[in-house]
Amino acid sequence: MTTPNVLEIRDIYQTYQISKGLFQPKKPLHAVNGVSLKVARGEVLGLVGESGCGKSTLAKILLGLLKPTQGEVLIDDKPVADLDRLDIARMVQPIFQDPYSSLNPRKSVGSIISLPLRVQNAPNPETWQKRVEETMDLVGLPKRVYNNYPSQMSGGQRQRVAIARALINRPQVVICDEPTSALDVSVQSQILNLLVDLRQELGLTYVIISHNLAVVEHIATRVAVMYLGRMVEVADTDDLFEARQHPYSQALLNSVLTPDPSLGISDSHLGATYPNPIDPPSGCTFHPRCAKKMAHCDSEAPTPIDTGSGVVECHLYKD
Ligand code: SF4
Repeated sequence: MTTPNVLEIRDIYQTYQISKGLFQPKKPLHAVNGVSLKVARGEVLGLVGESGCGKSTLAKILLGLLKPTQGEVLIDDKPVADLDRLDIARMVQPIFQDPYSSLNPRKSVGSIISLPLRVQNAPNPETWQKRVEETMDLVGLPKRVYNNYPSQMSGGQRQRVAIARALINRPQVVICDEPTSALDVSVQSQILNLLVDLRQELGLTYVIISHNLAVVEHIATRVAVMYLGRMVEVADTDDLFEARQHPYSQALLNSVLTPDPSLGISDSHLGATYPNPIDPPSGCTFHPRCAKKMAHCDSEAPTPIDTGSGVVECHLYKD
């Protein structure tokens, strides 16, 4: 029996009109450039790629914070365009990178975690405290910090508060944007293991955005590699880390796999610098940096090829 999809994106584009100078005509910048993907219930999808590849823009679209220029997002088979903000917030919640700036310093822990209940006008306010305390317990926060303020807590505790706030309404999907990168190395694995446990316990689906491939390898069940607004490879995590197919995935992963999770994509040995997305290279946009470039790569854009367990977008795999 196949697992139902909880999230689906269909041919999404996010285009901005950018001016290169005062009297210059505007040019389109495709931050997301025709991306389709299905995420099954209970899956952990890792989204990786260099800065500017479109992964954060895609996260905003999934959270309903940005309306795509074109295409459709479905949550639990319902088009996001037909849902209001409260419906979306009930089903999809974010966990952001920085627990310092994502928590209101003037509010107590209890007030921060209960906010989504209050926004949703959840019935029985008298039960809110119980619900908050249950959720605090779930994320490993002691009841005694209920009235504390963020400034009285460690980075790890603050991220637990942010996770409790995201989970208080029991969403189906959690979008984690670099969930551990602002934390001390010693705390990162605790938070990652907590996310793994919560997924099991609550049947959550995660989309994990990270430049840290060690984090993605640890937690994701499937990985999508983004380059200049396209998903150039989607594969099961084991397949990607053992036998990646796209030359970009190969260069990215070969050069940065490291046992130290604090190291991100620092030295990718990709030769030419990341192209300007306003002026993307012709044909395959990866061709100026590709070690396996062929004669037609700079004139013909590759299309997605089904690999059986995933998708790769490269002429090398054309029949
Ligand atoms: Fe490299 Fe050509 Fe494949 Fe692009 S299509 S990744 S340039 S081999």
